[in-house]
Amino acid sequence: MNDFIKCKKCRFNIINVSQTVSEHGDESVCKDSNHTQKLFIPESSYSSWILEAIEKSNWTKGKFYCPTCQNKLGTFDFVSSGKCFCGQYCVPSVILMSSKIDYPSVNVKNLIS
Ligand SMILES: [Zn+2]
Ligand SMILES: [Zn+2]
Repeated sequence: MNDFIKCKKCRFNIINVSQTVSEHGDESVCKDSNHTQKLFIPESSYSSWILEAIEKSNWTKGKFYCPTCQNKLGTFDFVSSGKCFCGQYCVPSVILMSSKIDYPSVNVKNLIS
């Protein structure tokens, strides 16, 4: 199955859709529909190049870039505790920016609204 989320610019395979989670840190979708669904990456799925950016910041906050074209792909924040719009406190700290990535055409799990 080709379920990789790709860099919009260079088609680099960022991460498999199955390795991403919702804002609640799992497969469940937030009941608060007033905000856009985002794609989060749980700690168990960090790629080495994402981890490198995180370590460079000493696990504080920052951005990570595509390893091949340097396109900004997302942000991370280990400083402020993750909080969903609905008030639940388990939002993973690494977020993919939907405007910079391409979702696979299948199996998107309603993550795009
Ligand atoms: Zn790229
Ligand atoms: Zn929520």
